[in-house]
Amino acid sequence: MDNAMFCWQCEQTAGSKGCTRVGVCSKDPDVAKMQDVLIYLLKGLGFYATKLIEKGEVLPQEYGEYFTEAVFATLTNVNFDSQRFVKYIKRGNEIKKDLMEKSSHIENLPMGADFISPETRGEILNLSQRPNLGVMDDEDLDMDIRSLREFLIYGVKGMGAYHHHAYALGRYEPEVANFMYRALGCTLDKTLTAEAYFDLNMELGKTNLKCMEVLDAANTGTFGNPEPTEMLITKKKGPFIVVSGHDLRDIGDLLKQTEDKGVNIYTHSEMLPCNAYPELKKYPHLIGNFGGAWQNQQKEFDGIPGAILMTSNCLMKPRDSYKDRIYSTSVVGYPEVSHVPTNNKKKDFTAVINKALELGGWPEDETEKRIPMGFGRNALLSSAQAIVDAVKEGKIRHFFLIGGCDGARPGRNYFTEFAEQTPKDTAILTLACGKYRFNKMDLGSVAGFPRILDCGQCNDSYTAIQVALALANAFDCDVNELPLSFIISWYEQKAVAVLLTMLYLGLKDIYLGPSLPAFVTPNILSVLVEKFNITPVSTPEDDLQTILG
Ligand code: SF4
Ligand code: SF4
Repeated sequence: MDNAMFCWQCEQTAGSKGCTRVGVCSKDPDVAKMQDVLIYLLKGLGFYATKLIEKGEVLPQEYGEYFTEAVFATLTNVNFDSQRFVKYIKRGNEIKKDLMEKSSHIENLPMGADFISPETRGEILNLSQRPNLGVMDDEDLDMDIRSLREFLIYGVKGMGAYHHHAYALGRYEPEVANFMYRALGCTLDKTLTAEAYFDLNMELGKTNLKCMEVLDAANTGTFGNPEPTEMLITKKKGPFIVVSGHDLRDIGDLLKQTEDKGVNIYTHSEMLPCNAYPELKKYPHLIGNFGGAWQNQQKEFDGIPGAILMTSNCLMKPRDSYKDRIYSTSVVGYPEVSHVPTNNKKKDFTAVINKALELGGWPEDETEKRIPMGFGRNALLSSAQAIVDAVKEGKIRHFFLIGGCDGARPGRNYFTEFAEQTPKDTAILTLACGKYRFNKMDLGSVAGFPRILDCGQCNDSYTAIQVALALANAFDCDVNELPLSFIISWYEQKAVAVLLTMLYLGLKDIYLGPSLPAFVTPNILSVLVEKFNITPVSTPEDDLQTILG
């Protein structure tokens, strides 16, 4: 192919087919090539790691952490800095050489398994294409196999993000790391059938359930169980830092480092759920949430009189009007954006704090407004009996889980309109940044509960799953017989991992939108429809009619 790049891993991919000249996300061909080379290197690394694990070797945690971080770095809207990818590639070479040395002679080595990358930016960019390096480089590969292969790789990337947040809080999970090695390693095997890839995708769903459980335990074990909270969504006078992304360890450390400094902390986008964790909300300077979902950041950060910290996705190309006040940390990167490094697992946010003080912050208090949030697993399960009674008494007719990622496409109004049109005797569970489509609406209450129950971040799908299983148990029925429908918006690869978990659990009748992944071929789609009744969203009116009858 003569394209400058090829990437179709997210929902906003060009023409719903693939970004071939530059990413809609602003990823340029150099970074795309770096990411392709890194993933190619990781496939072989995963292959050797798996061979050693099968022989009973326990690999160092540092190797698993590297692998997790490297796949996470290639997720949509995370890292756009090619120099950072050179570092990931160099470290990947070192680890892979070590694993190769430890492995005895391997028969029938798959093509590309022993690939060692050059280590300068220029040489990496000049590497000639080879089968399995980029998505489309295996030109003779069956498109359905390619589709399932990429499904698996994107699932690994999404799960890598969750695993990274979990081990940042001390919960490294070898089962997750070992599956990631094996899954990427398998993709070098040209003999794998569609059935084998399908099974691997289901196994990814299962492993991701474990990963989300571990992350849930890391978050609640460190910061307590989220509690229903009336969260401030208006501005307070004074210097401030806006924290975006998903990493609870980072916001926890920043809150400690800003104590008594006269700097307020606002969450942004997927950080919003932090306002409900007892060990985070105990800090009076965690003021509330600023702004909406990630795709509004260029507008919302424009000329903002405060500092911004991006702890994970979703980062957009910073405008000049706030380039001097936005900071990345952890796996996030953008050229010319200041980075707060991790040293011995610790971070020093002094530069971010000083920038906030220098900028002075909002000049006035806005008229105060608050919205309810914080309906995590614990809060919902402690009300399980009241919910069951309300359903039995006919007070709550149906539950909708409307959640997932948000994005810029106009079709996403579907989710706003859907929420608006749900009948008054129904309740909405929501999570992830898709909630911003409707979380400030006043939809009233039902049976004593707010009609919109915000369960948290996208990894809190675990919460929603646990609540669904508890309700099924209480009603003594299969989860698919509950008065519960899933209306899922997808954008990037974490949504792919969560979707695979839902499919692994046998959840059916999932409405998916605003458009279907470009990497799903018509044949694979018909399998998903036939086996799981996945339905592309149509109009809110028609879908509500189908669901409620
Ligand atoms: S991540 Fe999405 S927008 Fe960015 S290059 Fe890939 S498909 Fe395009
Ligand atoms: S839920 Fe998805 S789209 Fe939204 S901020 Fe998180 S990673 Fe980005």
